[in-house]
Amino acid sequence: MSHVFHRHLEQHYPTAVGGEGPYLIDAEGRRYLDACGGAAVSCLGHSDAEVIEAIREQVGRLAYAHTSFFTSEPMEALADFLIERAPSGLSSVYFVSGGSEAVEAALKMARQYFLERGEPQRKHLIARRQSYHGNTLGALATGGNTWRRRQFEPMLVEVSHVSPCYAYRDQAPGETPEAYGERLAAELEAEIERLGPETVMAFVAEPVVGATLGAVPAVPGYFKRVREICDRHGILLILDEVMCGMGRTGSLFAAEQEGVVPDLTTIAKGLGGGYQPIGATLVSERIRSAIAEGSGFFQHGHTYIGHATACAAALAVQRAIEQRDLLSRVRQLGEGLQQRLVDRFADHPHVGDIRGRGLFRGLELVAERDGKTPFDPSRKLHAEIKRTAMDEGLMCYPMGGTIDGRSGDHILLAPPFILEPYQLDEIVDKLDISL
Ligand code: PMP
Repeated sequence: MSHVFHRHLEQHYPTAVGGEGPYLIDAEGRRYLDACGGAAVSCLGHSDAEVIEAIREQVGRLAYAHTSFFTSEPMEALADFLIERAPSGLSSVYFVSGGSEAVEAALKMARQYFLERGEPQRKHLIARRQSYHGNTLGALATGGNTWRRRQFEPMLVEVSHVSPCYAYRDQAPGETPEAYGERLAAELEAEIERLGPETVMAFVAEPVVGATLGAVPAVPGYFKRVREICDRHGILLILDEVMCGMGRTGSLFAAEQEGVVPDLTTIAKGLGGGYQPIGATLVSERIRSAIAEGSGFFQHGHTYIGHATACAAALAVQRAIEQRDLLSRVRQLGEGLQQRLVDRFADHPHVGDIRGRGLFRGLELVAERDGKTPFDPSRKLHAEIKRTAMDEGLMCYPMGGTIDGRSGDHILLAPPFILEPYQLDEIVDKLDISL
């Protein structure tokens, strides 16, 4: 019996001892095709020789330098790499150690921005129901997943939640995608009016919703309307790309496909590809300069921010993705995966929808298709699907059934970008057996 305090206290998990490309290997030598990249983390697969070498080289030279005293070469190089490729307007990078920390930093930066400008009344946050933005207290309050929040209420941060863009369930019969997006935008604006626009600090959303809904993109035009509304009322737009960013949907930033530039954006998971814990908040010039010209000090920090080895690993991962042209591979493989999923599951009695972008795909599970009734509010079947898939040698990510008893039953697929096409068949075959 191990002394590890595991989140699922009663469950037994195999001991992972190795990784090879898109496979993980346990202590018994069993191989698992990593079709969910852990939690959309492993973009480059496991044990990549170039990344290992970059980490080895950095650790040998300088593993860590505290940011109260120094920056470091990999930290500066990674910030430059990201800003050269980020939507224009984003001009600096605040490094952290993961997704929740990136969201916390974004929330505090938004708050400090308005304090520096002498607008302390701007403190309301609006996010979306059925969303997940992390597990630290601020990020948990931001997320609209009632099951996760319930036992910790009242939350330290008060957040209003509006409807997410979730066409499969919420677009009315006969309603065009544009009209649906417009209806959601009107709901957001009504909430802003209800709170008083001068009191609202920021709106937070994932461009493509991952953990809670299962790779659900917004309808065309939705984010453009959101941007307009935020601008009209002087509200910041925070896009959380912790899961959908860093190439997962086929472009480095998912927001590129929406044609909007956020004021703050958060990234993590695929940034370091699992080789080191790392996350970042990308900051627009107006926020950076308001803080620089105001107090000159962002009132936030952690011991390991900008960790030199983590930055070197992330830089090696991102350079590899670019040099090996893996984003076009993501788009191609993504189409191939979608086609195979549709061919295999379009008539499956418990698959209601198959969607996503790039190598970020979701299958919505239903008890029966016509009524779109929830598949498994108890989550017992999700655990069963996951266990059966593991028995077959497949890692997939079934989630949901707990959000509002009505939606969010899905299997999320987010495999590494380095897959061979025959491994797409392996995913679909093993998923079929599990389902
Ligand atoms: N935001 C989003 C959109 C996420 O999907 C996650 C993780 N699933 C987080 C934030 C939190 O990231 P982390 O688990 O690295 O703290």
